[in-house]
Amino acid sequence: MHELPVTQSIVSIASEEANKNNVKVVKEIRIKVGRLTGLMPSCIQYYFDIISKGTVVEGAILDIEKLPIRIRCGSCGKESVIDMNSYSCSFCSSNDIKIIGGNEFYIESLEVE
Ligand SMILES: [Zn+2]
Repeated sequence: MHELPVTQSIVSIASEEANKNNVKVVKEIRIKVGRLTGLMPSCIQYYFDIISKGTVVEGAILDIEKLPIRIRCGSCGKESVIDMNSYSCSFCSSNDIKIIGGNEFYIESLEVE
């Protein structure tokens, strides 16, 4: 249930950005969300529709792209993309791995009119 504060920050960052650039209508907000955050895109859109009412970003569509979990292996040194349920290197199956991606959350761009 941490979508609410996350959505509040999307609305405030995007509105600030739009106001700074004298934008009147924001059509789309592109967001990247790492799989490890556990954030649900549909929840974010739901909260967004409520919170954005009366702001410059009201009515915008959220284009949320999920980013994979990426690791770097401590044994073979290679980087790979893994599933939630297999925390091991895709190349050598070592468990000596370091997570280097999947916790991201950021607004990539705004599409404006
Ligand atoms: Zn490896």
